[in-house]
Amino acid sequence: MIRLFFKNQRQNSLDPLVRTFRKMYSQTATELNKLSNNEIGAWLKSFDTVLTDCDGVLWIYNNAIDGAPDVINRFKEIGKKVFFITNNSTKSRPEFLEKCKMLNFRMVEEEIISTAWAAAKYLQNRNFQKKVYVIGSTGVAKELENVGIPYEGIGPDVLTGNLQNLVHGPFTADPEIGAVIVGFDEHFSFPKLFKAASYLDNPDCIFIATNTDERFPMSGKVIPGTGSIVRSVETAAERKAEVMGKPNPLICEGLFSDFQIDAGRTLMIGDRANTDIELGANCGFQTLLVGTGIHGLRDVEIWKKSVDPNDKKRIPDLYLPSLGDLLKYMS
Ligand SMILES: [Mg+2]
Repeated sequence: MIRLFFKNQRQNSLDPLVRTFRKMYSQTATELNKLSNNEIGAWLKSFDTVLTDCDGVLWIYNNAIDGAPDVINRFKEIGKKVFFITNNSTKSRPEFLEKCKMLNFRMVEEEIISTAWAAAKYLQNRNFQKKVYVIGSTGVAKELENVGIPYEGIGPDVLTGNLQNLVHGPFTADPEIGAVIVGFDEHFSFPKLFKAASYLDNPDCIFIATNTDERFPMSGKVIPGTGSIVRSVETAAERKAEVMGKPNPLICEGLFSDFQIDAGRTLMIGDRANTDIELGANCGFQTLLVGTGIHGLRDVEIWKKSVDPNDKKRIPDLYLPSLGDLLKYMS
């Protein structure tokens, strides 16, 4: 249903300027800074909504990427709608806003789309009246509180003794739990997996995952991401989660309903092709990959030679080494 909706959006909204850009640059990974100033000027007019990933595009940890705040603020000054769209479920929107302010991005709360917010909104839109078991962090908890949905499960839940203590212990599945949300949880444990799978044994229990990012890159170490936890719960529950995060178009549901954005005149900017760029392909957005995060032109060259259709969806329309490079074209 959702895919059909996005397909219609795509077909209805292409004006001649956008069509020209699509024809010339669609999934070509053209280097934007090799185009003429006139071409870049025309491209800037071919979209009026900008969706951008955060980590690796706008900032790395607590440091803004050079020029990124100026580009984002300039987009707003020249009349573009801007939304930050992140798979990070550990923060609530007010917490993201604090970070934006600290790094000089002039944003308001409604312009921040996070998977924690999307998960809470998904339940609210479906008039959910029960309680949620959460494997996740306070970001999910705060967004559920904002929409008045009760929850439990946040924080450490460690195995005391052995498996027998857990299986024959005090836990019984609470019939008031009507949904399980799985996000990033540094306290993920065997008891949490046991409880989530027990709730999900009821086929009426809604199963939501905030995102499926596999891991966080770090030199010499691997930090398992939410996807590792989601796969674990899916395996135990023998069910697939409804995934809120990119590249699933569900994360844009609220954008289309609340802000009437036009898919054909929307640009998606990202550093990770299998989430950000693939979301763009799934929704019919123009796409721009920046080289300050996970993927770069070397990866794109591999996907161009691949026969796997999923790899094709990862090839962006355009490429820039860094978002800050755009500023000189926006005066
Ligand atoms: Mg990123």
